[in-house]
Amino acid sequence: MNAIRIDGKAIAEALRARVARDVALLQAECNVIPGLAVVLVGKDPASSVYVKTKAKQAQAVGFNSRQFLLPSNVGEAELLELIEELNTNDAIDGILVQLPLPGHINRWRVLEAINPAKDVDGFHPYNVGRLAAGRPALVPCTPLGVVHLIKTVVSDLSGLNVVVIGRSNIVGKPLAILLGDAGCTVTGAQLQTRNLPDLCRNADIVVAAAGCAGLVRGDWLKAGSIVIDVGINRAIDSAGTAKLVGDVAFAEASERASHITPVPGGVGPMTVAYLLANTVDAAVSRRGLSLVPTPDAPTLCHLAP
Ligand code: NAD
Repeated sequence: MNAIRIDGKAIAEALRARVARDVALLQAECNVIPGLAVVLVGKDPASSVYVKTKAKQAQAVGFNSRQFLLPSNVGEAELLELIEELNTNDAIDGILVQLPLPGHINRWRVLEAINPAKDVDGFHPYNVGRLAAGRPALVPCTPLGVVHLIKTVVSDLSGLNVVVIGRSNIVGKPLAILLGDAGCTVTGAQLQTRNLPDLCRNADIVVAAAGCAGLVRGDWLKAGSIVIDVGINRAIDSAGTAKLVGDVAFAEASERASHITPVPGGVGPMTVAYLLANTVDAAVSRRGLSLVPTPDAPTLCHLAP
């Protein structure tokens, strides 16, 4: 079998186009321009690239995009003060603090200081709890992107067996909840899991989010399964060139799977696109509005009391 590549870049582009349409509608009907504040502490090269990409794409869909670049020695109190300012600034709908933070800053104190209504990363315990309880919430972007990609292949997930490798707060745990809510039987695997290859062989869908290059081998997969590779690992190829690779041994897995995401160009673009979509959702629901899709385009209307 030669697996079909799921083109995350193209699917993310379509999602960003939808977001841009929603932004235009919000502006035309309510004179609202969604505002996204991205906060970066320090100069970690990977984080700097992510922040630049997020800011650029936010601008491209018509957001009021604000970047706050703080020195690595900024005090926690100063960072919390900035978050409080953003919480009360009516022009800001979404606040994202790029992780990781330097060791002298308590990550949880910072994440919990963000107004849950502006928590577009979905990391605040309020949103985590609401997601777990099946209530409307701001949900972490990568899991939303993964479910979206899977649904481009199979629209009804009910009854499918899924193995999610990794149980971080950012990816694995919220993803397991979303897939469970969609009717999947979810096996959450982690470092301590026994017989991971056998668990995968029984899965209709394998999602790898372990941060371990080439972990999932071709012979772990059931023929015809869907493979979503969340991992981003830096590797050196045989010519000595640095490149990004996923958690799945791509060539081998392509021989067994029916559909597979590449790295890069799979899940990564979806994560940024969902950050934009979450910001529009935050802007809309903070004002008591909702976007109601119509066959041609979404229509903005007031929420029923
Ligand atoms: P994390 O380090 O917080 O969690 C890793 C999880 O994987 C843990 O639960 C751990 O127990 C499990 N794990 C690690 N090695 C394993 C193994 N050999 N077998 C089974 N389980 C194993 O990582 P994270 O933040 O969830 O990120 C995971 C990967 O996804 C990283 O490569 C990260 O860069 C990538 N990532 C990508 C995106 C994206 O947009 N594409 C977004 C977030 C994270």
